[in-house]
Amino acid sequence: MIKIFAQSLIQIGANLQINWVLVNACLQFIAWGLFSLLVAEILRDAYHALCHQVNWLGKLHNKHHMAYRRDLSVVSLKIYQESQLYHDILESSLLVVACALIALIVRQPGLWLGVAYSCTFLYGACVRYFQGKIDTDYNHLPGPLETIPSTWLVNRSYHWRHHFDDVNAYYSGVFPLVDKILGTALSVKGKTVALTGASGALGQALTAELVKCNAKVVALTTNPEKLAEQTGVKVIPWQLGNEAELKESLEKIDILIINHGVNVYTERTPDAINSSYEVNTFSALRLIDIFLATVTGPQAKATKEIWVNTSEAEVSPALSPLYELSKRALGDIVTLKRLDNNCIIRKLILGPFKSQLNPYGVMSAQQVARVVLFLAKRDLRDIIVTINPLTYVLFPLKETSTWLYYRVFSRRGKGE
Ligand SMILES: [Zn+2]
Ligand SMILES: [Zn+2]
Repeated sequence: MIKIFAQSLIQIGANLQINWVLVNACLQFIAWGLFSLLVAEILRDAYHALCHQVNWLGKLHNKHHMAYRRDLSVVSLKIYQESQLYHDILESSLLVVACALIALIVRQPGLWLGVAYSCTFLYGACVRYFQGKIDTDYNHLPGPLETIPSTWLVNRSYHWRHHFDDVNAYYSGVFPLVDKILGTALSVKGKTVALTGASGALGQALTAELVKCNAKVVALTTNPEKLAEQTGVKVIPWQLGNEAELKESLEKIDILIINHGVNVYTERTPDAINSSYEVNTFSALRLIDIFLATVTGPQAKATKEIWVNTSEAEVSPALSPLYELSKRALGDIVTLKRLDNNCIIRKLILGPFKSQLNPYGVMSAQQVARVVLFLAKRDLRDIIVTINPLTYVLFPLKETSTWLYYRVFSRRGKGE
């Protein structure tokens, strides 16, 4: 009896071993498969980026850029088909060859997944070239841009910017991985960027960084006398409570950075409560609403953005209760407003930096401004710059849970 039982155990053990071998092989196949998809994505988008740097490649690729009007309708069927041959078919054929070579050299079956993936691009391009069809060309379907550029998957609004915003950015075709690596997932070049709190330490540092990136800066300030004249910077004075007067100016703005604020430190008088909410929360929200009303026109959703400096006080102590309360209220309402997807709204979650509000800050405003621009160019929607490691953990948790809660329990308009 015991002998039979022991034999059965050995048998089960042997079977399990065979299964483990199978599981191991499957896992290896999946891992190499995913790796090959990653390689295919990087190769395709790197080739596209190269087309914009190397003249003779650019001549062929330019056929693609010549094929579309601003609303992404095709200029003519002949030019469209030519662009498919000289760009799409050429690019996907090179990709198939490169992926096949890698699979042949490395000799891992999973790598053929990348070859199959590349073949789908070649197939689509051939159908478009031979049959003149445009319906498989998802990033170039004609019509107004009704959604905002997406973060993890290239959509029409994302790719439209490559054609009509900045041809030297937004190279990615499916996953914006290469753009995130190159810092080409957002271009501020040539854009008009307005920022409040322009006379403060961060305001001035951000202005300097934006000018370096060839943006036109509009400095919105309640203290115009504090700002020295600067080339590439236009100063517009405003007063708290008179935000509506900025409507006309905001119509011409691509990116609005809301960066003004007040810190009453340890005070808790009715006046302190009132001014904290009035400056940090309500005036910021009025500006957001006025700016959102200017997001009109068929392509506005692709280029208009708001960046809100809600600060690290959203999740971490700022040793100033009213600063925390008013900034948290602003941060929460921004999360609520982001659900409408009217335009990209980024949050700047900044730790203590040296400024008039905080003379004991650890980082310098210049360092913070540089990192903000670095991360914005990688299309981060929540830009965290702090030396407090807890913020990097707490903020995403708080933002995700609040976003989910607001999504379930709020609606865009009555009855929707
Ligand atoms: Zn295109
Ligand atoms: Zn291009």
